[in-house]
Amino acid sequence: MTGVTDRSGVTVAETDGIAPSRVGGHAPVTPEWTCGTCDAEWPCEPKREQLLTEYGTDRAMLSVYLGACLAAAAEDLHISGATSLQDRFFGWLPRRPKQH
Ligand SMILES: [Zn+2]
Repeated sequence: MTGVTDRSGVTVAETDGIAPSRVGGHAPVTPEWTCGTCDAEWPCEPKREQLLTEYGTDRAMLSVYLGACLAAAAEDLHISGATSLQDRFFGWLPRRPKQH
């Protein structure tokens, strides 16, 4: 039997099943979906930077995460035909030339 190493004991509070990707501030405040740190619309600029750094090359996972947030936000904010929300959650992603 091997001892299980504890994962640094970080407790992540969950909001409606969405776990903040990391504890570093700039978490969304629901149901307003504003940033808990700088009060801007979430995802705020610093958070976007964080997400890009965090997910790095794993853009697919980032999209999944943002998609879940978008779905939750659309529900919370009662926005139908959430084009503006989609733009808000995905429009900021830098487009990168395809790598081969
Ligand atoms: Zn923020």
